[in-house]
Amino acid sequence: MTASGVRLLEGRPIADEIRIAVAEDVATFAAANGRAPGLAVVIIGRDAPSTVYLEQILRGCAKVGIHAEFVELEGEATERSVAAAIRRVNADPSVDGVIVQMPLPPTIRLRAVIDAIDPAKDIDGIHPLNAGLLRLGYDGFLPATAHAAVEILRRSGIEIAGRDAVIIGRSAVVGMPAAFMMVKEDATVTVCHSRTRDLAEHVRQADIVIVAAGRPGLVTGAMLKPGAVVVDVGINLVDGHVVGDVDFASAVKVASAITPVPGGVGPLTNALLLTHLIRAAERQASARHALARRATAREPSEREPSEREPSSTEPPEREPSSTEPPEREPSNTEPPEREPSNARPGPSAAPRGDR
Ligand code: NAP
Repeated sequence: MTASGVRLLEGRPIADEIRIAVAEDVATFAAANGRAPGLAVVIIGRDAPSTVYLEQILRGCAKVGIHAEFVELEGEATERSVAAAIRRVNADPSVDGVIVQMPLPPTIRLRAVIDAIDPAKDIDGIHPLNAGLLRLGYDGFLPATAHAAVEILRRSGIEIAGRDAVIIGRSAVVGMPAAFMMVKEDATVTVCHSRTRDLAEHVRQADIVIVAAGRPGLVTGAMLKPGAVVVDVGINLVDGHVVGDVDFASAVKVASAITPVPGGVGPLTNALLLTHLIRAAERQASARHALARRATAREPSEREPSEREPSSTEPPEREPSSTEPPEREPSNTEPPEREPSNARPGPSAAPRGDR
């Protein structure tokens, strides 16, 4: 709570809680599988602006015992060489999750990259299959930032069902997935973008505003409904300082709760990404074990000459896959059955920390 009475929805305390649970899950996984869960981060040149953020992810993995490494493309990267690097990590059984440096260089089309990722290892939910599962309300991998924007509300005990929410931004990685998640949470959702005619008028109607536009100061206190809850996803560098998309100084005078930047959605994003990795690792391990059990159960004479290890790009016939609809339809923001127990959202949990 600040001096003005607004509640600060901080990401760091929630992220810390999640990391403790992740570290336990990593230890359990390693004991059962003889190796730590593995993450591959495909980067196209170390000078990319996102490298600092990706290095933070690597450090965060090391702290909880996850084996993470850069897969660095040397020289002139092409769509073909990026896709080939992704296919190599897809086929590597010690790699459970893959993320690719964003934004991509202008010469490389996003589609060429996302299509190459094995959906079972797509822990940032960018593959069209995972995006489609989210759209249908099934349990695929969620884009971590959008997940964090909604999860910070849930974990802070903010009521979502029945409330009017405005999402500013319609990107495939933040705005639209956040909108689908909020619909799943039973909010009434309006998505605004750069062609929205009267942004202030829409924002004024909203009980909850999620801003992901990449425009510093886009939302001011004068635009907000008194008591609105504001989630600021924006990360902008202004005069050497990281700021969000919301004019914090004016917004705190009107909002009832607001995420700070830095310290709000960003830290939660990184921690949730780790939970997605654990989930990917557990699902792939369970699929491999099931296949091995079936192969052992069959008579040697019955086995195909080409009997082989399961490929991560090929979901097993009968085992649950991360991309398979669950038996019941869970909430998209609900952690899956096997996510770390402490990572489960709960209204009583405190908020948490930045990319
Ligand atoms: P993006 O792909 O550039 O999308 C921005 C969206 O905002 C677009 O839909 C755009 O509309 C809309 N927009 C731009 N100017 C607007 C305006 N004046 N009024 C209304 N809408 C406007 O960006 P993104 O990848 O979604 O990222 C959004 C922000 O989140 C950025 O600041 C980024 O740095 C930040 N981010 C934060 C995290 C985190 O962990 N906190 C992670 C990823 C990204 P059109 O579609 O019409 O162009």
